[in-house]
Amino acid sequence: MALIDCPACHKRVSDKAKECQHCGFKLATRSSAEHDRELRRALQDKRDSILSQSMLALLIAIAAFAYFYVAQPLPDSWQAQLAYAGMLVGSIWFIVNRVRLVFLKKKP
Ligand SMILES: [Zn+2]
Repeated sequence: MALIDCPACHKRVSDKAKECQHCGFKLATRSSAEHDRELRRALQDKRDSILSQSMLALLIAIAAFAYFYVAQPLPDSWQAQLAYAGMLVGSIWFIVNRVRLVFLKKKP
């Protein structure tokens, strides 16, 4: 964070501020290159978030499957229902996140 001079009142304001905190002057003087960089970083953040969510979903599905395989709960017990639910939710969430990632990549 750096301090810049407000073009209107010449007081020191943060370069991150959208407007001057002293006089309210709009500091929308960002170059298009800066704007592009911000946009790309936001997109990358979103991609990372979806990717970690899909990894978490996969982990849930695998954990549920491993539990079901190792513990072998009775078919009608709540443990089995929980394992089914975990596998189902994990797989669906994983697929949803992969689809979101594909759509995100298609955006220019
Ligand atoms: Zn100002």
